[in-house]
Amino acid sequence: MTIELEARIPPGRIEEKWSTHLDQIRLVGPRNRPRYTIIVVGTGLAGAAAAASMGAMGYQVECFCFHDSPRRAHSIAAQGGINAAKDYRNDGDSVYRLFYDTQKGGDYRSREANVYRLAQLSTGIIDQAVAQGVPFAREYGGLLANRSFGGVLVERTFYCRGETGQQLLLGANSALAQQIHAGHVQMHTRTELLDIVVADGRARGIIVRDLVTGDIRPFAADAVVLATGGYCNVYYLSTNAKGCNVTATWRAHKKGAGFANPCFCQIHPTCIPAAGEHQAKLTLMSESLRNDGRIWVPREKGDTRRPSEIPDDERYYYLEQRYPRFGNLVPRDVASRNAKDVCDEGLGVGPTGYGVYLDFRDAIRDRGLDQIESRYGNLFEMYERITDDDPRQTPMRIYPAPHYTMGGLWVDYNLMTSLPGLFAIGEANFSDHGANRLGASSLMQCLADGYFIIPVTIGDYISRHQRGEIGTDHPAFRDAEQAARERIERLVSINGARSVESFHRQLGKLMTDHCGISRNASGLQEAMKTIPEIREAFWADLALRGSGAELNQSLEHAGRVADFLEFAQLMCIDALTREESCGCHFRHEHQTADGEALRNDEEFAHVAIWEYTGAGRIPVIYKEPLHFEALPLARRDYKT
Ligand SMILES: Cc1cc2nc3c(=O)[nH]c(=O)nc-3n(C[C@H](O)[C@H](O)[C@H](O)COP(=O)(O)OP(=O)(O)OC[C@H]3O[C@@H](n4cnc5c(N)ncnc54)[C@H](O)[C@@H]3O)c2cc1C
Repeated sequence: MTIELEARIPPGRIEEKWSTHLDQIRLVGPRNRPRYTIIVVGTGLAGAAAAASMGAMGYQVECFCFHDSPRRAHSIAAQGGINAAKDYRNDGDSVYRLFYDTQKGGDYRSREANVYRLAQLSTGIIDQAVAQGVPFAREYGGLLANRSFGGVLVERTFYCRGETGQQLLLGANSALAQQIHAGHVQMHTRTELLDIVVADGRARGIIVRDLVTGDIRPFAADAVVLATGGYCNVYYLSTNAKGCNVTATWRAHKKGAGFANPCFCQIHPTCIPAAGEHQAKLTLMSESLRNDGRIWVPREKGDTRRPSEIPDDERYYYLEQRYPRFGNLVPRDVASRNAKDVCDEGLGVGPTGYGVYLDFRDAIRDRGLDQIESRYGNLFEMYERITDDDPRQTPMRIYPAPHYTMGGLWVDYNLMTSLPGLFAIGEANFSDHGANRLGASSLMQCLADGYFIIPVTIGDYISRHQRGEIGTDHPAFRDAEQAARERIERLVSINGARSVESFHRQLGKLMTDHCGISRNASGLQEAMKTIPEIREAFWADLALRGSGAELNQSLEHAGRVADFLEFAQLMCIDALTREESCGCHFRHEHQTADGEALRNDEEFAHVAIWEYTGAGRIPVIYKEPLHFEALPLARRDYKT
């Protein structure tokens, strides 16, 4: 099998590519749309926006999620905000500057045309959300308020206190609910995708499992959209919801969809540090806190004084000192790496020595508690509930944690994967964020994909094919359903002694140690040797209670961990193959004299796309070269 990778980037000046594309793309007329069925898997911001928009256009949408309500998708956790180039602050922002920041922030490893389109669409997203009633914070005069996130010199982040994702999801979900009510969207909750059905080289539908009854069922459609989120839980401990997984995208990959840049994983600098071995989840403290909080560690190793007892000249404000221009607002990869470095030097704080302070003392002194409280009150409460420390009185302790995955299914300009008829949107695709996503840019991408891009671009594919060509009686559905049943049967009949959790934890630790904030060849090789051993032990010694014919959450977890155990190997192969440091992918072997990421543009200015070649076989790499026409390649510098 070979995969076709035609990016389909429209010709012309970057400012005009999207409008030219819209002028030329094939559309499906309003009368014809109800004849077509589109499957949307996932109801986070990307999926809910897409399903609602395509339902409103008249398509028949079958929408799936594994939660008991579409509103429970992981997007609800997003705290800090969403970017848009509105320039309400009059501080010099523009579409170009948002494009520039995103390209630079991603260390020049994303496709220019997509990033520029994202910046162009950003402003419409805010208008759409406001029209839905999303309660963005406002200035005294009524204009929407903005704050800043890392890696930028303007304030362009729109926010609803610390619950922006929840409010945006309520907006998208009310649009979705309207379409469910109108009969344009059939909603299937508590239903998990197990496989993609492919016939004659095109995606024709999916196989799902009803998580309550255990029933396995096929669904056919004219196109399939995956909006199934990211795979950070490969690390076991992450800021993601426990349910986040790689299953849908991995199984699509095994059916022919190329997987792009799987090693690009963002480790977020501001999370509550792990307290010990027993922990199953890490909590994010929003990046917005870096607007006012100052990050420091004691200058002396082993300083056990309380933070309030350490005078200013004995505090090391390492980001402010090393990156005077951006200070505490350097991008996430830079902040995370620096936190790890000072902790590795022995300057870290807290019981494990892997923590740094995020301090609001000066902000409260300068602006008053009321103003700081109005910005971060709910985050302070959350921190206090978890740690029993009051960040108004004593600095927060934070440490980096796996948070977001820039890698994902490769998509063309229409957001179609290399498997015709299969689309990927939101965090599930390899996205517009290159090797490092800037804060508040994921929600922007999810909603641009869902509200504005996929509803139009999907028509280009649909209009070229006959509708309903293949139904669930086709042998491809029967075979995929049979394979899904056999896999579940195999999982429940292992009868071993170890819990799913223990395998997941073991894999996560290995990945954190060897494919985390920084990587090197020997560590990656070690991980690649160990992952197959864990996988073998999993299939020989897994203990699962219950059967597949009932609600069985251990079985759900086992299916996802089995996929992580295959996928992790690809992440390490990708990380080992990319012989450079860029964004979040920091290879020890490739750094500048002052410890910054050293790119190798000669050999690696490309998207790495992997083709599945069979169980245990070495995957095949394809490269999409990246072209830099609107913004020439430059060294990413946040110091001067
Ligand atoms: C704590 C936290 C805070 C964040 N804050 C911000 C922020 O302030 N700003 C920002 O821009 N970004 C933020 N992010 C990132 C952002 O929230 C996510 O990248 C984004 O919400 C992903 O949305 P999505 O629609 O792609 O997927 P998700 O919201 O993850 O939704 C995935 C959907 O797919 C479904 N699904 C998955 N697998 C299957 C399957 N096999 N079968 C059926 N259904 C399936 C799930 O049920 C769910 O409905 C934050 C992330 C975290 C973890």
